Amino acid sequence: MRTAVEDYIKYIYTLQASGIKVSTGNLAGLMQISMPSVSEMIKKLTDAGYISNKPYHGFKLSPGGEKIALMQLRKHRLLEYFMINVLNFEWEDVHQEADKIEHAVSEKFINSLEYFLGYPKYDPHGHPIPDIKGKIAALKSMPVTKAKVGEFYYVSSVDDKSNEILKYLKEIGVRINSKIKISKVMAFDGSVIIILKGKKYLLSRKIAERLFVSGIDRNSEI
Ligand SMILES: [Zn+2]
Repeated sequence: MRTAVEDYIKYIYTLQASGIKVSTGNLAGLMQISMPSVSEMIKKLTDAGYISNKPYHGFKLSPGGEKIALMQLRKHRLLEYFMINVLNFEWEDVHQEADKIEHAVSEKFINSLEYFLGYPKYDPHGHPIPDIKGKIAALKSMPVTKAKVGEFYYVSSVDDKSNEILKYLKEIGVRINSKIKISKVMAFDGSVIIILKGKKYLLSRKIAERLFVSGIDRNSEI
């Protein structure tokens, strides 16, 4: 299957999973591709049966399309895990590389890699890794912008697309499962002040929207 097709399907899945309407405009923005190119590809994917179009509700992946998306995510996330835990990459340096390699490896390769890595459940950015059957754990989390002031949370995942943001979070000591307290949410511009290990940090809206938290300590999961 062609790289572009796999990428589109993966991005459609990403929008669907975060509850965002899958429209030509949203896809174009996320993928940084022009609207006409996106429309053209949507037509191809519809003709091939990977997506269905519900007027006014956007596009939705068919079961076949969803299967492809989950396989791509499985490859991507296991490759990122491998790069960080075995090859000692930094967490801001793996996403773009994994985006390229994921199209080149076979299912057999990725199944063996998963065995070699000891069946990890989450990738280094906190995203669940689909299993061999395409089953994926549900993420019960919210962006830190929606968290309640005065409450404690655990960092559950972070959007892996911006190296700059990942680098900044690493510098201030934010890790997956870090315990943070919400000190202030600035309604007027969406920035958030968090307390991490007794220190206060201001997160701009751009960062706060990409940092996800939950009330669950992941170490307590079985
Ligand atoms: Zn990634």
